[in-house]
Amino acid sequence: MPYTDVAIHYSPTGDIITMLVLLVFAVMIYESLFVSMDENFKLFKQAMVSIFMACIFNIAFFYLTKLDREHIFALYATRACYNLALVTTMYIFIMYLLNLVGIDDKSTRNFKLIVRVAAVLLSILLVATHFTHFGFYRDMSTGLWSRSGYLNAFVIAYALSVFGMGYILIRYSERMILQVSIMMLTCVGLSLITVIIDNIDVANEYLAFSYLLPMIGVIVMIHSRPYNLTTGAMSEEAFGDFSAQAYKNGTVIDYYSIEFMISTGNHDIPMEVGRALYKFERACLKHGVLFNLRPRLYVAAVYHDKMTEADTQKIDHWIKVILKEYYNKFKIDYKIQIYRGVDYIYELRQIINYLDLRAARMKCNEIFLATPEDVKELARTKYIAGELKKLAAEENLDNEHVLVYCQPVKNVKSGRFDSAEALARMTLPETALISPDKFIPVAERINVIHSLTKIILNKTCKEIRKLMDEGYEFDRVSVNVSVSEFKIDTFLSDITGIIEKNNVPYDKIALEITESTNDADYDFILEVVGKLRKLGVRIYLDDFGTGYSNFDRILSLGIDVVKFDRSLLLAWDKDRAVKVTLRHFSAAFRDLNYKLLFEGIETDEHEGLCFSCGADYLQGYRFSKPVPIEEYRNYLTKR
Ligand code: C2E
Ligand code: MG
Ligand code: MG
Repeated sequence: MPYTDVAIHYSPTGDIITMLVLLVFAVMIYESLFVSMDENFKLFKQAMVSIFMACIFNIAFFYLTKLDREHIFALYATRACYNLALVTTMYIFIMYLLNLVGIDDKSTRNFKLIVRVAAVLLSILLVATHFTHFGFYRDMSTGLWSRSGYLNAFVIAYALSVFGMGYILIRYSERMILQVSIMMLTCVGLSLITVIIDNIDVANEYLAFSYLLPMIGVIVMIHSRPYNLTTGAMSEEAFGDFSAQAYKNGTVIDYYSIEFMISTGNHDIPMEVGRALYKFERACLKHGVLFNLRPRLYVAAVYHDKMTEADTQKIDHWIKVILKEYYNKFKIDYKIQIYRGVDYIYELRQIINYLDLRAARMKCNEIFLATPEDVKELARTKYIAGELKKLAAEENLDNEHVLVYCQPVKNVKSGRFDSAEALARMTLPETALISPDKFIPVAERINVIHSLTKIILNKTCKEIRKLMDEGYEFDRVSVNVSVSEFKIDTFLSDITGIIEKNNVPYDKIALEITESTNDADYDFILEVVGKLRKLGVRIYLDDFGTGYSNFDRILSLGIDVVKFDRSLLLAWDKDRAVKVTLRHFSAAFRDLNYKLLFEGIETDEHEGLCFSCGADYLQGYRFSKPVPIEEYRNYLTKR
């Protein structure tokens, strides 16, 4: 049934609105962190382009029909292109949904193949309507542009695509968040209704517009990342994109991190402080972005090269003066870190690691301004972390990059160095010898510390075995372990396994642990420590006096030796209270039959002080610096 002139009812409003909305999308997307640009987002952008093209061809077609002179070829071409653009959009929609489902198995691959074949066949059909009259064509007898009824190539394509989308959404609904599925189904349904109304009218005014509905849904629900409405900060995912982009383009960034130390409960920062951060952003970050990486961790990242001296000073003034007034007013503690000229942060975890590592060494309400040397050190940390990961993956207990040094410990009673502490060192392809403070905290943070411990224990046991075989006399060597390792299921069996494998008696080994502030750790430690001691492994409490000493716990733990930290010796001279406390603790530990070891003895005076406290063991540069463990024999005598 031929229709009369299809152009009669047409007005370009729908197409123009569609194009305008697409332009708004484009502005939103252009260099914006509002939108998450994952892989699938490429398809979204392609769909935008094809809808835009459809609008242009539609408008062109209808204006061509209004011209006095007939341009038959141009009319056919614009109509065909319009239809093809719409079919392409539908094809992209289906591919987009399939990617969202995220399954790549035989059935999804087959489905993709069917969709591709259908798209090609329908495209051919749509272009061929001139000959088939199965769609728009020019009726030669009347000279009018007509359409073959409700059933034509385009309607079939449209129906199939709606069916395809509905099928994916329902079949894989468990793979999608319910709200997203409902939103998509609603959008597809609404667009179907628009198409039906449009079809009755034969004008195709709102056909392209109907395609926008699913797109709006998609961008809002899947790709949008709203700003925090109080602070104006972007989410951590946005930071991921930002840093990845900067890394890829070699852009140099200045980072300003502000962490609020509100520890109790889930308390967020007060609204006023949040608004102050927003004002800071408005005032200072025209070349940067404020991110909220964790509930109370904010990081401002600015493009280093775009900043003038005045810009930087302004940021400094805000950070160091204006914002500080707010913190003081609301009595919130903070830690601020400033890194300028960084070009190697490529992911969220990395910056969080750096910030946490440094923060652990900072006091509250301190501002840390990284020197260029510090920034370089951060780059080194990245390198070390990478090497540590490799080392952990290799699982080689004889790894050549890990070296064991040891510091002989003097036994006060015998006057001999009959015990020693094993201390880790590393050499990496790009570094000289590195000290433990450069890699132990990194290893702890990236959870490879246990791999290191195993290597050090293994190398220590090997040396112990040699010393014993050569007839040297000594009591034991202590190895440092991290509290976090006690939670590892295989911790106990790993330790005992290595000791036994090297044929070393358990009582030749001691483990040094530090105190933990975490209650949850304590139960694990208690259990494992008990088992180790039963076997004969001695337990030392390291760095006593630096942690949050919880005396009850220390007493219940059951340890053999308490190691007084060097900082106590340093404070001793200056602080009378320390002197009193130390004497008090020493006496208490002696009553409990714990042995006392003093660390960091550098002078005769230190040694005298330790004697007066009843020291059993002394360790420090006064006697020996740490030496390669093979040299321990120089401090020993043979039987
Ligand atoms: P720590 O266990 O308290 O080790 C004692 C540290 O004090 C050693 O530093 C030692 O060289 C240093 N020291 C000893 N006597 C003196 C002195 O008279 N004056 C001064 N200023 N320092 C002295 P090192 O070897 O740099 O180790 C630092 C820390 O790294 C260790 O403190 C320990 O906590 C950790 N660490 C070392 N090796 C390992 C390990 O294999 N595993 C684990 N988890 N941690 C380790
Ligand atoms: Mg130690
Ligand atoms: Mg210590």
